[in-house]
Amino acid sequence: MQPTPAPPPHRSDWHLQDADALAQQHAVNPDHGLSADEAQRRAAQHGANELTSTQGRSWPGLLADQFKDFMVLVLLGAAVVAGLVGELTDTLVILVIVVLNAVIGFVQAWRADQAMAALRQLAAAHATVLRAGEAQVVPASTLVPGDIVLLEAGNQIPADLRLIEIAQLQVDESALTGESVTVTKQSGTLAGAGHSALGDRLNMAFKGTTATHGRARGLVVATGMRTELGKVATLLDTGDRTTPLQRRLAAFGKRLALAVLAICAIVFVVGVLRGEAPLLMALTAISLAVAAIPEAMPAVVTVLLALGARRMVAINALVRRLPSVETLGSVTHICSDKTGTLTQNRMHAELLLAHGQRWTPGDALPSAIHCETLRAASLCNDARHQNGDGDVPGAWLGDPTETALVLAAHAGGLDKTQLDAAHPRVQEQPFDSDRKRMTTFHPQGDRFVAYTKGAPESVLLCCTAQWTAGGGAPLDRPAVLASADQLAAQGLRVLALARRQHTRLPDTNAIDAVESELELLGLIALIDPPRPEALAAVRDCISAGIVPVMITGDHPATARAIAHRLGIVDSLDAPVLTGTDLSELDAATLARQVERVRVYARVDPAQKIRIVEALQAQGHFVAMTGDGVNDAPALKRADIGVAMGQGGTDVAREASSLVLLDDNFATIVAAVKEGRRIYDNIRKFVRYSMTGNSGEIWTIFLAPLLLLPIPLLPIHILWVNLVTDGLPGLALAAEPAERGIMQRPPRAPGESLFAHGMWQHILFMGLLISGLCLGVQAWAIASDNAHWQTMVFTVLTLAQMAHVVAIRSESEPLWRLGLRSNQPLLYAVLLTFLLQMATIYVPWLNPIFKTAPLSLGELAICLGAALVVYVAVELEKAWRRNRQPAAIAMDEPPPPHRR
Ligand code: ATP
Repeated sequence: MQPTPAPPPHRSDWHLQDADALAQQHAVNPDHGLSADEAQRRAAQHGANELTSTQGRSWPGLLADQFKDFMVLVLLGAAVVAGLVGELTDTLVILVIVVLNAVIGFVQAWRADQAMAALRQLAAAHATVLRAGEAQVVPASTLVPGDIVLLEAGNQIPADLRLIEIAQLQVDESALTGESVTVTKQSGTLAGAGHSALGDRLNMAFKGTTATHGRARGLVVATGMRTELGKVATLLDTGDRTTPLQRRLAAFGKRLALAVLAICAIVFVVGVLRGEAPLLMALTAISLAVAAIPEAMPAVVTVLLALGARRMVAINALVRRLPSVETLGSVTHICSDKTGTLTQNRMHAELLLAHGQRWTPGDALPSAIHCETLRAASLCNDARHQNGDGDVPGAWLGDPTETALVLAAHAGGLDKTQLDAAHPRVQEQPFDSDRKRMTTFHPQGDRFVAYTKGAPESVLLCCTAQWTAGGGAPLDRPAVLASADQLAAQGLRVLALARRQHTRLPDTNAIDAVESELELLGLIALIDPPRPEALAAVRDCISAGIVPVMITGDHPATARAIAHRLGIVDSLDAPVLTGTDLSELDAATLARQVERVRVYARVDPAQKIRIVEALQAQGHFVAMTGDGVNDAPALKRADIGVAMGQGGTDVAREASSLVLLDDNFATIVAAVKEGRRIYDNIRKFVRYSMTGNSGEIWTIFLAPLLLLPIPLLPIHILWVNLVTDGLPGLALAAEPAERGIMQRPPRAPGESLFAHGMWQHILFMGLLISGLCLGVQAWAIASDNAHWQTMVFTVLTLAQMAHVVAIRSESEPLWRLGLRSNQPLLYAVLLTFLLQMATIYVPWLNPIFKTAPLSLGELAICLGAALVVYVAVELEKAWRRNRQPAAIAMDEPPPPHRR
């Protein structure tokens, strides 16, 4: 069928057309899909399956943004005024500084945008598509019209599809139609008017909506901007992209700006009253305002968060919402799934138990009942053959539970591909984690056989008392359940297999009737070993004051055994709450229970939300993992929703703020550590830049009160602001995590950025810096030193360099950190020092900066003054070390945040 079709007409009445005819129009065989070459050719013709993004900012726009700031406009105004009164050098210098400032701001914004774009790219959706007869997972952007897409519950629909084969597909179309009821789809051709509403086109699935139940196969009829979503994409809201911390900082900045402006006004008035030139005083006041108002701080915080988010990808944590980078440090409870997150999800069958007889893969051929159990396990199974030999692990694509069963069947001599060909699935009742079982129907002679597999207690509930398959003996339910419990207590995952003969295909809408009167075949126990790294991660969690909690759909005994192996609970008698228990507890009792329970088993995804809410009601800050469609509400409700990148559904990813690219519990703990580090570094940046500003303000403000001349010229103030805030501030983003970062309790979510003595530091260190500047000024003037202004200028810059080096840690001395542990900062400080020296010692810069070369003695005095700042910060840190001996006790519970 391959050679090139005429391009399909751009119309949207696909729902009125016959599916086969449409496939033919698109020159594709629905059972085979397009060839790779053909898909590539069509991609060239139709373009990527993407919505034209309205989010990315162009670089000229970004650059222009840098000049829109109010203070920059004031500065430009000042430059013009200076020019008008003939101070052309001042005009030029101000302009150069404004441009340099803009360049720095632009580079920062550009890097932040790039980092975010890279993250978006990584978060991009994938789709399962049939190409050249094989199911492949490809980036959704590579889909082309004519592709055959395989959908299952949890998938986001990647393009507009005409559905051609359906197994109880239900789709949530609220993203497109606003209707919150899920729509049950069908594959038949619709009759009627061409312009039926989107919600009525039951044989179509539209890009951007999500499959919540069932499975389907669909033909791509429209991609990218030609989809129904594309038509409304321009209307989509891009949303507020600022984080709470940024908003708080911006609000704080506004208040601070008022105070600074008042100080500047005083400086201006006092200066003029003392007989200084009004223009000089105006420029001084404006420069001071520009330097001291932290207008760039929210932007720098974005840079730090975005760069942090990019670094987090390296540890397999993909941040979907920037604010979660800052809130990760507040997590007190990590509620994690078991399968695949705490365990390896590399399952294999350990044992088959049927009719009291055991069979282990590798043994001689099993008996007939074992054979039938394996046949059920293989046929009632969604694993798809991918490539290679059918009996090696990599050959099968799908849920590890299911691929393990297929391999067990292979070990027993049953080949899934042959079985599927001989007994094709004609109907099914897909798996869902509420029922905890699934059923498939297959022809057998002139009749049909239905195979059911699922959690033992769930399957046994549907079994008849007569164990026909076991030779007509009565089924001893308690004994079977006891065997299942015994296996589970060894940490094994146990599934029960059953069957039922039908003379004709039953109506699957009556689920209960279909899954009843089953004959039990046997139990299969799968082993899923804990992840080795999870053990250490659990320990880290506990020492960081974070409680690890396991919430699983698996059996309580399996859950407890694995939790014990991982150190989540320290005894095999630890309490386990099951889904049934949960449904019987009222909110108040549950609130008490959540404080001590660490393991929840046989929990429906819908119940996870109760656990989150109970923990939150106790004042805890909860990170919660999830992968399924039904997990979405709990993921949204959790303070940090964590989705699985490999095994998870698109729905869960959309609802979460963090995606684990490796589905690994240890990654959550690593992300928390990284979140704490990033927040620490934001605090360091704020501490550094605000202390510098405070030093500048005090210096200019106090000088006249001490009857000293204005210590600095506008250009000096602007220069100090430029070189100190630019590079060294940003280099703080590279600061490694503080030692003991995971030995301190979580930060309270509402805690002020300025907590733990920061504003006092800003105030007093600022006073110290200004004291040093003014001291040097007073001394130099008293000793008739003509270089006093150059000296003050130098002290101010060098003191800030000394400060930034010293505040690299909140408590550790620099000599223990080592200068080389943050090389970007080391180089930034050296560069700033060299630039400062250039303003003094490069002859042609002297007239511009109104400086004079300092003698060695004078330079030594400046360096000495800077050293005082360094020593003062080290003393402060030593005092803090003595006051708060680190490490909290290992078993101390985390502090409740919300009480
Ligand atoms: P976790 O919530 O930790 O990921 P889980 O994978 O066991 O654990 P669910 O996927 O909700 O959670 O599965 C619940 C139970 O349903 C399992 O313990 C198992 O007994 C049964 N089960 C899981 N997968 C299948 C499947 N593909 N077919 C039939 N039954 C299944």
